[in-house]
Amino acid sequence: MITGKSYIANQPTAEGTKTFKTFDPQKNVDNPWTFIEATEAEVDAAVQAATRAFESFRSSSGKERAALLNAIADQIMNLGDELIETYCAESGLPAGRAQGERGRTVFQLRSFADLVAEGSWVEANIDTGDPSRTPAPKPDLRKMNIPLGPVAVFGASNFPLAYSTAGGDTAAALAAGCPVIVKSHPMHAGTGELVAQAISTAVDQSGFDPGIFSNLNSSGIEVGTQLVSHPGIKAVGFTGSIKGGRALFDLAAGREEPIPVFSEMGSINPVVALPSALEEDATGWAQKYAGSINLGTGQFCTNPGLILGLDSDAFKSFEHHLQQAFEELAPQCMLHPRIKQAFDQGKSTAKAQAGTATVVAETAVTEPNYASPMVLKVSGAEFLNNDQLHREVFGPYSLLVSCSSKEELIGIIKNLEGQLTGTILASAADLSMQQDVVEALQNRVGRLIFNGVPTGVEVCPSMLHGGPYPASTDSRFSAVGIHSIKRWVRPFSFQDWPNEQLPLALQNENPLGIRRLVNNKWTHEAI
Ligand code: NAP
Repeated sequence: MITGKSYIANQPTAEGTKTFKTFDPQKNVDNPWTFIEATEAEVDAAVQAATRAFESFRSSSGKERAALLNAIADQIMNLGDELIETYCAESGLPAGRAQGERGRTVFQLRSFADLVAEGSWVEANIDTGDPSRTPAPKPDLRKMNIPLGPVAVFGASNFPLAYSTAGGDTAAALAAGCPVIVKSHPMHAGTGELVAQAISTAVDQSGFDPGIFSNLNSSGIEVGTQLVSHPGIKAVGFTGSIKGGRALFDLAAGREEPIPVFSEMGSINPVVALPSALEEDATGWAQKYAGSINLGTGQFCTNPGLILGLDSDAFKSFEHHLQQAFEELAPQCMLHPRIKQAFDQGKSTAKAQAGTATVVAETAVTEPNYASPMVLKVSGAEFLNNDQLHREVFGPYSLLVSCSSKEELIGIIKNLEGQLTGTILASAADLSMQQDVVEALQNRVGRLIFNGVPTGVEVCPSMLHGGPYPASTDSRFSAVGIHSIKRWVRPFSFQDWPNEQLPLALQNENPLGIRRLVNNKWTHEAI
């Protein structure tokens, strides 16, 4: 049941007076629940509880944390239809998407459970000492990853489950041994509260200090600002706008003790559509791209917002078929009137830029929060000279850029800001002739896709969901997949430490049976 309260160390709490409601964009009405924003004292209480809990949580075993993560997954499934109905009422997204995202969330939790139960993720390195080495004896050094401390997580508006309360950031941080304080997203605070209740039940069952998890309500920047400024917070996970992510990054960097902020932010995900692919199947690619631009009402960070081509009959044919494909697509609901407003604003700014022309025109949409897709086109020269056209328009929007030459195409790619993905559409034979294009694109993105669409982010170890700034604030890490755990740990060395006092991962006997780098050789063996 939704109460509108925050949760601090498993206890519901509502000391504040500022309230807010979530909004049902399909029905165009407020949802019935009233949420109470957390006070500064509650933010402090959550961080104090997390700091205390870290003392024991940091040295819990991987198997204990795996049991917690699996219990959270079970409890989320136990929420049943109430979770799905609340998700839909707070996002306007269909039940099928809600169920799919719940499946993804549970899969992520269980993937991290498997990772930490097995244990090798700590990357144990052992270099045994040699007292007889001359001229100086060699010390015994042993290194492994250890948790950073309490982590603040900012949930995403566009993924109420998979990138929010029990989403990838939370799952990875708990797996690493870091307590988590979620700054709940105000657009889906009810979904967030239900998931917070599921996590609290699982924490109760697990026997961990309840301070390892708190969920704070807020509908403005105050709670988030207090959280990131609090000296007890040691790292931040964020998914959202460049403006928000950058503000938190700057805030964290300006603290007396700066802390890392892992922000996954905007991206326009350039697609290079070469004639060799379009000559083969302009219709097929146009249909795929109309679907990809429109998927989830365009509210994905991997939405293809920029399609670069060479001025050719093939690119013109693609443009024509894209326009036709959009005629088959019905308008869809956006997450919130604020997101719709930002989308409409973004479209009119883009449309007003010099040299742009319409490919897919906006149509009159009668439902209040439904989006009318738009696709524009512009020449390569106009695009190069206008930074405004490089900005993300969050929603079903894309821009076709027709380049006069391959040199211009490469120049444009080199001039792009950092991106999550880059896609190349080409025949296999042609791809091998385009290494200069591939290298230029690789330098600007986190993931390259061949003959596909960028929407769809598989959860698996080889996924890299991140990229050069501003796609993310740290291109060395992925926000998706088990390796995202590395954001919440630091490497730590013991020198000449007594064997029995070392963590199990580093003891001679290898009691955890994990894979370790011992004297530069990977092994599961004891020493
Ligand atoms: P947002 O405005 O960046 O907000 C995300 C979260 O961060 C919210 O909880 C917000 O709190 C908090 N926040 C934002 N700025 C902050 C600041 N200066 N200090 C402290 N906390 C701050 O993103 P959003 O609400 O999800 O959506 C708004 C726009 O972001 C969209 O229209 C879209 O352009 C973009 N977006 C992009 C992606 C992507 O993946 N590329 C995903 C989602 C959204 P409050 O809401 O309570 O103020």
